[in-house]
Amino acid sequence: VGVSDLAGRLRDIHEEPADISAGPEQVLGRVEELFDKLIDGLADDRPIWGIGIGLPGPVEYAVGRPIAPPIMPGWDAYPVRGRFAARYGAPAWVDNEVNLMALGEIRAGHARGQQDVVFLKIGTGIGAGLVSHGHLHRGAQGVAGDVGHVAITEDRSVICRCGNVGCLEALAGGAALARQATAAGRDGRSPYLAERLRDKDPLEATDLADAVAHGDPFSVELLSTAGRHVGSMLASLVNFYNPSLIILGGGVAGAGDQLLAALREAVYRRSLPLATRDLRITRSMLSDQAGLHGAAFMVIDELLSVERLPNWIDLGSPAGHPELADPLPE
Ligand SMILES: [Zn+2]
Repeated sequence: VGVSDLAGRLRDIHEEPADISAGPEQVLGRVEELFDKLIDGLADDRPIWGIGIGLPGPVEYAVGRPIAPPIMPGWDAYPVRGRFAARYGAPAWVDNEVNLMALGEIRAGHARGQQDVVFLKIGTGIGAGLVSHGHLHRGAQGVAGDVGHVAITEDRSVICRCGNVGCLEALAGGAALARQATAAGRDGRSPYLAERLRDKDPLEATDLADAVAHGDPFSVELLSTAGRHVGSMLASLVNFYNPSLIILGGGVAGAGDQLLAALREAVYRRSLPLATRDLRITRSMLSDQAGLHGAAFMVIDELLSVERLPNWIDLGSPAGHPELADPLPE
């Protein structure tokens, strides 16, 4: 959580882990506690102009609700926007976190000024935020870029938590990698991971980075294979969207160079030469804060848009008018 000014500069930030599967009451209740603390800490009694929230699942942007998110029990259709709008008397917008990370990067990070960008998050799950002509491309319902469940293999033993088989996320997402690392440690395919399991069970995807640094062949192969899978999906996106920049974020993307090297190789090998002529692939500079920057800019963009500004400019401020976030008439 953080407080931003109207220029998108983050003034105050608080970070802590949260278990999204604990459900909206517990998670959002804690977010509200933290919001209240941040607001109390502001120097003067400044009114809240708007609230931006990012969620790790598909969000119907127009209404600010998550829709059938695969790892978020209890969140389906939960009125996230309505809850914050009512509590703080301010317009609120909710989006998928990867979209917000992409927005944060084009405004405050590596991609500032870039027009065509793909932000790919490889964490527990996998998702992409697409920027086209300098603007987020959300698609008709807001789920554009949800690439974690693209089918990569016909192998019916690769079962994804979404219920389908063969998804990219089930092969290369952090949860899948952690499961494979733990299994390899248990059955002796990797002596290094077996050793590590004595202190920590189950393993996490980030343990693979240490294993690679220690030259563990199983982990090198696992991360390379994951990188190739993600890279071939990205190559399709490159041919489709022709971005000039791909930014990688999330815990798995940050876990060593093995995955990144394999991913790069697959993208350059499988994309059209013209599409990769000036293509750069880089890690996120803003890291964990990309989404926070993006949430601030989402609110600022909405409030100052030519469609919304006339609805509040005569009032002097949007504070106290949560209805300003209502979907615009077609
Ligand atoms: Zn899936």
